[in-house]
Amino acid sequence: MKAKQLPAGLHRDTLAIRAGIEPSQYGENSEALYLTSGFLQPDAETSARLFANPQEGYTYGRTSNPTVTCFEQRLAAMEGTEAAIGTSTGMAAILLLGMGVLKAGNHVVCSRSVFGSTLNLFAKEFGKFGVESTFVSQTDVKEWEAAVRPNTKLLFAETPTNPLTDVCDIRALADLAHGAGALLTVDNCFCSPSLQRPTELGADLVIHSGTKYLDGQGRVMAGAICGPAKLVNEVFAPIVRTAGMTLSPFNAWVVLKGLETLSLRMKAHCANALEIARFLQSHPAVTRVYYPGLETHPQHALAMRQQSGLGGPVVSFDVKGGDPATLRRNAFRVIDSAQVMSIATNLGDTKSIISHSATTSHGRLTEEQRQAAGIGQGLVRVAVGLEHVQDIQADLLRGLSKL
Ligand SMILES: *Cc1c(COP(=O)(O)O)cnc(C)c1O
Repeated sequence: MKAKQLPAGLHRDTLAIRAGIEPSQYGENSEALYLTSGFLQPDAETSARLFANPQEGYTYGRTSNPTVTCFEQRLAAMEGTEAAIGTSTGMAAILLLGMGVLKAGNHVVCSRSVFGSTLNLFAKEFGKFGVESTFVSQTDVKEWEAAVRPNTKLLFAETPTNPLTDVCDIRALADLAHGAGALLTVDNCFCSPSLQRPTELGADLVIHSGTKYLDGQGRVMAGAICGPAKLVNEVFAPIVRTAGMTLSPFNAWVVLKGLETLSLRMKAHCANALEIARFLQSHPAVTRVYYPGLETHPQHALAMRQQSGLGGPVVSFDVKGGDPATLRRNAFRVIDSAQVMSIATNLGDTKSIISHSATTSHGRLTEEQRQAAGIGQGLVRVAVGLEHVQDIQADLLRGLSKL
C-alpha cells in the first residue's frame, strides 16, 4: 500500500499522472487492474496479521484492493488531502460520510440546492436514525449561521449547484463550521480538483461522484471522500469494510486513468461552456443565462476566486415564453431539436447533454417547490461536452431559431 516515492513539490497536473502505488514486480507503466476478490497469503501467521491490521496489506476485496488504493492516493494528491477512500457511487460516499460523522441526536445544516438524492438522504434516510437536517440558502451565510445549533455536527455544501450554478463561499462556511465545532463537507463534483480544492479554503472533507468528470466519459459509477488520514483510515475505512459500499477495482481503474486527463478535459469543458454561455446571452429567445463565468452571474467574482478563474462545465438558461405551459413547450422544442447533443440527465461526459430540469432531476418537486428553487418550466441545462463548440452552438440554434 506504500505510495510511490516522488520528488516533493510536483504540480497537480503531474500528480494526476504519476501519484499512486508502486508498480508490481512486472514493471507495468500503465497502472494495473487487479481484478480479484481475494488475495493469497504466504502463511496463516501473515493472514492473521493482515486481518488484524488491514492497513498493512490486502486480504479481501470488500476491505481494499491495490487498484482502488492507487485511485485513492492519486485523488488525495490532487485534492491536497492526506487521504481518500473510494466508494461504489457518489451517493455511497455521502452515505459513508453520514455513517462516519453522525449519530442519533446530531444535526446537519445543508444547502437547499444540493443534488436531489443528497437532500433525500439527509432529510429522509438519516432522519429515520434520529439525525435532523435544516436546509438553508445556498448563498446567504447568515441563514447557515442562524440554523446552527449546539448539536450541529456537519455543514454540507455543493458548489456550483445543479442546474442554476449558484456558488457558495467555502471559506465563510468553513469558518462558521469550525466556530460551531462542526465539520464542513463540500461536494466537489462540478468543478473537480482541477478547478477547485475545497480543503485549501478550509473545508474538512470533500465528496466526489467519480461517475461525473473524474471518469469524464460516462462509463462507470464511482465515488470518494477525501480528507484527513485519521478520519479516512480510522472512521471511514472500517465502515466500508463492514458495510460494503466498496468501489469495484474495474471502476477504480477507469476513473484512475480518467484522472490523468482531468485537467485538460476540464479546461476544454469550461472554454466550450463559456463560449456557449456568451452565445446564449446574446440570443433573443433566451431570457436568462446561468453561468458563473459570465460577469452577470451574481457570484461571478467569488466563483473566479474559488474555481481557478473558470466558470465550470455546466450552463443553464431560460427560454422565452410566458405561462408555464408555453415555457415548457419552448424548452422541449429546443431540447428535441438537438441532433448532436444527448437528451439525458447525467453530466460529466465528453458528450454534451441537454436536459429539462423541471421534469427530470427536479420532477418530484411540486410546482410551488420548483418556483421557490427558481427552476421554471423554461429552464434548459446543458452539461457542455468536448465536441467542437460551433457544432454545439449550431445544435442549440436549431431549436432557438424556431421560438
Ligand atoms: C451525480 C451527483 C452525485 C451522486 O453521484 P452518483 O455517482 O450518481 O451516486 C452527488 N453529487 C452531485 C453534485 C452529483 O452531480
